[in-house]
Amino acid sequence: MKQKKWYSYLWIVELLYLCLGLFNILFAWLGMLFFTIPLLIAVFGGGKAYCNRYCGRGQLLGLLGEKLKLSRNVPPPKFLRSRWFRYGFLAFFMTMFGLMLFSTYKVFTGAPLQQTVTLLWVFKLPWQWAEVDMVSPWIAQFAFGFFSVMLTSTVLGFVTMVLFRPRSWCVYCPMGTMTQGICILKHGKEVAAHGRKSKEDRGVAEAAGK
Ligand code: SF4
Repeated sequence: MKQKKWYSYLWIVELLYLCLGLFNILFAWLGMLFFTIPLLIAVFGGGKAYCNRYCGRGQLLGLLGEKLKLSRNVPPPKFLRSRWFRYGFLAFFMTMFGLMLFSTYKVFTGAPLQQTVTLLWVFKLPWQWAEVDMVSPWIAQFAFGFFSVMLTSTVLGFVTMVLFRPRSWCVYCPMGTMTQGICILKHGKEVAAHGRKSKEDRGVAEAAGK
């Protein structure tokens, strides 16, 4: 039997991250690793290696959808795979990210800390089990905002996993779109995301140009 590589277990890290955020919101800062590593790999010549090997979220969606059969396993709608939707979603996502940074800045300049996690950019969940006294309020504000981003994208990933194919989130994931954009800028062509869990998902990704 083929031995699994260490990076096949990175889905555990993804799960751990979500649990640690519930335990103490300041762990949300660790999510910056999921944000910067894929971009650095793409910039320094690794192409889509993060998506293909190291992404715990992609692995987790694959496991839940394929092994636990939580996915309907039907192709995602065409619009989800279209270029305008992927780049439009990236623009929307980055705008919300910018607003989150602005809230952090406001707290840095004296505005009160908002102890809430915002789900799907609308629903404000009170988040009282957070030990934020040990740090400056802006550090805590960033943690609340960043955990909101991570939780929102996780929920969207789970919903599209259940409704369509296990890794349908990968079709419009902002990190995937950004790393693909970097590959296009560097090599003048799109780079396929190899190593996905199933032929079907590879088909989805290729149809999406990822
Ligand atoms: S597209 Fe996003 S979720 Fe999918 S493997 Fe790449 S970084 Fe992970």
